[in-house]
Amino acid sequence: MAQNSTRARQYSVLKMRLVIVQVLLTAAFLVLMLFSQAGLLLKQLAVSATGNFYLQLGLYLLEFGAVYYLLFVGLDFYSGFVLERRFGLSRQSLGAWLKQSLRKTFLLSLAALAAAELFYLLLRNFPNTWPLPATALWVLIAVTLGKIAPIVIIPLLYKCVPLTDKELERNLLNLSRKFGVPVKRVFEVQLSTDTEKANAAVAGMGKSRRILLADTLLRNFSNEEIEAVFGHELAHIALQHWLKLTVFGTAVSLATFYLTYLVFRPAVDFLGFDAVHDLAAFPLLVLILTSVTLVLIPLQNIYLRYLEKRADLLALSRVPAKEGFISAMKKLAGQNLSDPSPAKAVEFLFYTHPPISERIRYAAAFGNKQNCAD
Ligand SMILES: [Zn+2]
Repeated sequence: MAQNSTRARQYSVLKMRLVIVQVLLTAAFLVLMLFSQAGLLLKQLAVSATGNFYLQLGLYLLEFGAVYYLLFVGLDFYSGFVLERRFGLSRQSLGAWLKQSLRKTFLLSLAALAAAELFYLLLRNFPNTWPLPATALWVLIAVTLGKIAPIVIIPLLYKCVPLTDKELERNLLNLSRKFGVPVKRVFEVQLSTDTEKANAAVAGMGKSRRILLADTLLRNFSNEEIEAVFGHELAHIALQHWLKLTVFGTAVSLATFYLTYLVFRPAVDFLGFDAVHDLAAFPLLVLILTSVTLVLIPLQNIYLRYLEKRADLLALSRVPAKEGFISAMKKLAGQNLSDPSPAKAVEFLFYTHPPISERIRYAAAFGNKQNCAD
């Protein structure tokens, strides 16, 4: 265990450093594109190819994305392939990783391209009020994606099969009724082709609601532990966290867009760009939008950790045994190599869940308190 948590510490420190390196390099890249001839060259290439603004934008973004991809694919390879293998989190072959990475990049690019086209449509037509329609659009996209992604996108990336363990399926369906969250079917998602990390989710809503369990979870966890992990997911639904997150996300995205607007417009004038939708100002827009987002992320994480704790506590009150929860937490920490007790500053900045040590601590205290109260 001690050796495992040292490895977990090493892994999370390395991962965190990589995130910081990537953020700094991306900022440097954006500044370079903003002030060098290279940025202008990309714009001229796009503008000389067509007279239509939205086609120009599409071409410009493809060029921009291609340059970024080529510059950063090495970092992605190191973080997503080399490190994952070194720490035993993945047994993927290089070919399989490349195929998966290209597929993800393609899907992401397509989504980013569509989102950017819509965003510029707003920027061009509502140069002074775009934060409002942009927020509405963002919420619409987030809600749609949140609802359809697990049903449409996960099967595109991973193989899903109905669960074979009928006893476990029965227990999970019973548990879901206990939470007042009826579920139709349980599926096994074959994540192990990609990662050793374990995961579980409830996807869809109403009649199409289904349980997704990673094969990595099924292979290494006892039924009691799977029920505990799963009870946590059901608690999110029973507590309507989805709705709360949508309202919260709306407020955060309005703040993000409005703060961006406040800085972007004067910066565009100051640097002498033609308009806010000038393609040459795109790196500036991304720079400001990313900075604002990075400032707001730690604040969002405070709320996310609060909701995660609420889900844990409800799950603990409904699953058959809290021991399953505690041992599942320990296994998850080991299998996903998450640092059980990170530094306070690291938790504040990056953690969307309470650290494992804290989750185990309140789980252990939970039963004791309840015995006294009952
Ligand atoms: Zn959760």
